[in-house]
Amino acid sequence: MWLSADVGGTKTLIGVFAPGAARPEPRIVREYTTLDFDSLDDLIGTFLDETGATGIGAAAFGVAGPVNGLVARMVNVPWVADAAPIGERLGCPVTLLNDLEAMAHAVPVLEPDELATLQEGIQTPTGNAALIAAGTGLGEALLHNIDGRFIPAASEGGHADFAARTPRELAFVADLSQSLGRVDHDRVISGPGLVNLFRFTHRSHACRVVDLNDDHAALPAHISECALARRCAACVEALDMFVEAYGAEAGNLALRSVATAGVYLGGGIAPKLLPALESGRFMDAFRDKEPLADLLRTIPVRVILNPSAGLLGAATFAATLTD
Ligand SMILES: [Zn+2]
Repeated sequence: MWLSADVGGTKTLIGVFAPGAARPEPRIVREYTTLDFDSLDDLIGTFLDETGATGIGAAAFGVAGPVNGLVARMVNVPWVADAAPIGERLGCPVTLLNDLEAMAHAVPVLEPDELATLQEGIQTPTGNAALIAAGTGLGEALLHNIDGRFIPAASEGGHADFAARTPRELAFVADLSQSLGRVDHDRVISGPGLVNLFRFTHRSHACRVVDLNDDHAALPAHISECALARRCAACVEALDMFVEAYGAEAGNLALRSVATAGVYLGGGIAPKLLPALESGRFMDAFRDKEPLADLLRTIPVRVILNPSAGLLGAATFAATLTD
């Protein structure tokens, strides 16, 4: 049995997996509020106590933040994730992974019905793949193809500089940099990024549908629901700008990694925005990369629909620790 977790700034999915035909199979999965715990060890102790899970042969945890050996300083969580006491508790190999690196381990084992295709493309068996995931922030990971096998590599590309491509985006960056300083992708292509775009497109008149004083965590969903129902033109523009920025950065990632085996969209936002992503705006921005537009046209682009892909990826990695 393998223990894995996907530890986010808001919630943590944790589960015990058993060997399966094609990939680890979940046996027990629980969801916890991350900040209800004082440490990762505390959270795992609670899970083991509540479920009585035993016989763990290896464990791997994906955490939102850069990982340094067995320790990760998490973004948006006031504690350091330390795998050493967990290894002592379980008496088995334990590994920490960056959350996107963990999700990347799930990509090769996803089933066709767990994916939605934005561009069929022509998959190159020897090519690299890439993963981009907008959620609370923007995460990116690479899957290097080494001798026909994908080797995931973490990245902090979501914190690289956001490059404006249109006069509206230039005006948005000028506006946002006044209050935030440097504008990275994370400030634009994420739930809070959609709220930043909303503020920009509603500068001249307040929104009659979405109230910025509402529950902050629910605002991105309110804005996208309003835009998808076309109830407010400025909300529609905010979502259009979000989708274009997401498509453009997915294209940048494809260029940087030459991802001819595919670009995958993970995270919680893409499945909810599928109608907007399928409208053509996302793929137009993805392909708008002259002189390499022809290359971008051949790259498969798919949305990951499995909401537990990060957890599955961590379990997939944990399984390799006992091979
Ligand atoms: Zn509006």
